[in-house]
Amino acid sequence: MSSIIHVAVAGANGRMGKEVVKMVLTDPNLKLVAAISRSNEGVDAGLLVGKEACGVLVRTDLEAALSGADAHVMVDFTTPHSVMANSRIAIRQGVRPVIGTTGLKPADIEELDKLCKNNGTGGIIAPNFSIGAILMMKFAAQAAKYMPHVEIIEYHGDQKLDAPSGTSIKTAEMIALNRQEFRQGNPNEEETIDGARGGLYNGFRIHSVRLPGVFAQQEVIFGGYGQTLKIRHDSYDREGYMPGVNIAVKKAMELSGIVYGFEHFID
Ligand code: NAP
Repeated sequence: MSSIIHVAVAGANGRMGKEVVKMVLTDPNLKLVAAISRSNEGVDAGLLVGKEACGVLVRTDLEAALSGADAHVMVDFTTPHSVMANSRIAIRQGVRPVIGTTGLKPADIEELDKLCKNNGTGGIIAPNFSIGAILMMKFAAQAAKYMPHVEIIEYHGDQKLDAPSGTSIKTAEMIALNRQEFRQGNPNEEETIDGARGGLYNGFRIHSVRLPGVFAQQEVIFGGYGQTLKIRHDSYDREGYMPGVNIAVKKAMELSGIVYGFEHFID
């Protein structure tokens, strides 16, 4: 195998997918070998993302696009409804999944891990590839050791399909590793409007704000005696995820089974 990594992009017509195509086309150590989308069949992937033609035509059938493409890695930024089917197809063809699509359940992650191991391959599932967001999660996990009363508020655009966000779930999971489970708040609390207190995870709350004009933000708020601590991350642009995706594509080549969370690649 050459040292150039051959990359297929599922969701190439999407907002994240287009950034991935651009990133792959500009890294001499990566080669775009397939671009898959539900629309734009036959359009050159380079032209699709506003760059020069690259000779890779968008395909709508993932299985057909992968067979014969000699892809090593498939980056998936599609939808919670299609990511599992895409990943099963890729792994069965020996292609390593790097999954940014959110909405996967623990059982899905387990299934893909097993499938990878059975096929002698590996991959990465990361709800957030932004290095700043990973640091926010790590700092929140650290704070939870000393301030176990916590709530998460995440903000995204109003067209997002899944709630709460994959990032907030990952943050909650990392907090839970450092916080003994207990139910926060008044035990007699009553919601007069359903959902007013947000979703309950391990005894603490996650709130999802969905508004046009918002890109991606998250606050983790800790409450203590006479004080609060807020850890906040703001994403302004999809380009901000690309250094992380680039690292993940390269790391995926060394893995056996699925690594869940980009934080495992940041010391
Ligand atoms: P988007 O703009 O709606 O793009 C999704 C794309 O997926 C669409 O272009 C659609 O193609 C394509 N698609 C749907 N089903 C498909 C299938 N079966 N095969 C191939 N392509 C398919 O969404 P986005 O904003 O790029 O976000 C995509 C996902 O990434 C979401 O789950 C989001 O939460 C997640 N995300 C993750 C991170 C991270 O760091 N991990 C960061 C941002 C977003 P058509 O356009 O042709 O219909």
